[in-house]
Order: sequence, then C-alpha cells, then structure tokens
Amino acid sequence: MVNPPFSLKDIKPGEFTYISRRKLENKEGETTGEVFLWKRAGDENHSFVMQCPYCLVESEGEVSLKRRPYRVRCAGCNRSITLKRLKDEK
Ligand SMILES: [Zn+2]
Repeated sequence: MVNPPFSLKDIKPGEFTYISRRKLENKEGETTGEVFLWKRAGDENHSFVMQCPYCLVESEGEVSLKRRPYRVRCAGCNRSITLKRLKDEK
C-alpha cells in the first residue's frame, strides 16, 4: 500500500481539493499496484505516489490532470498508466 507524504489524520478542512486512492491492474487484470493522488488548494498540478502494477516500483511526482484519459508515468519502467473512472472523493 502506498502512502502519501502526509498524515491523512491531520488534514484540515479546505486544505485539499482532491484526494483519491485507487487500485491499479496489470495487463492480466490482477490488482498489483496502487496510486494515491492529491491536490492541495492553490496547487496547479496533482501530486501522486504510485506503486506500478507492472514493475512494482514505487514512484512519485506531479501530473497535470486536465485532459482525459488521465495518465501517470512510472519512473521504474517508463510505462504510461491510464487512470480509469477517476472521480472526486473529498
Ligand atoms: Zn513500472
């Protein structure tokens, strides 16, 4: 399980405009990875920590989620991973 670089228990109301944790599947359809996405109020881009479902390397970075399909790139295997059915969870 990936964890963001902050404690979910310490989040103040209004501090984040977006928080989402989602499972990621490999090409066999097995859930082997996970991504945690968040956006702080005032930030331009979303930030993420991800365990790649293909190579299992954990990476983190920023991503602009302005146009679908939403994708994040793995720093380990350089695959572009599509995020399906992204919905807001506050
Ligand atoms: Zn990878």
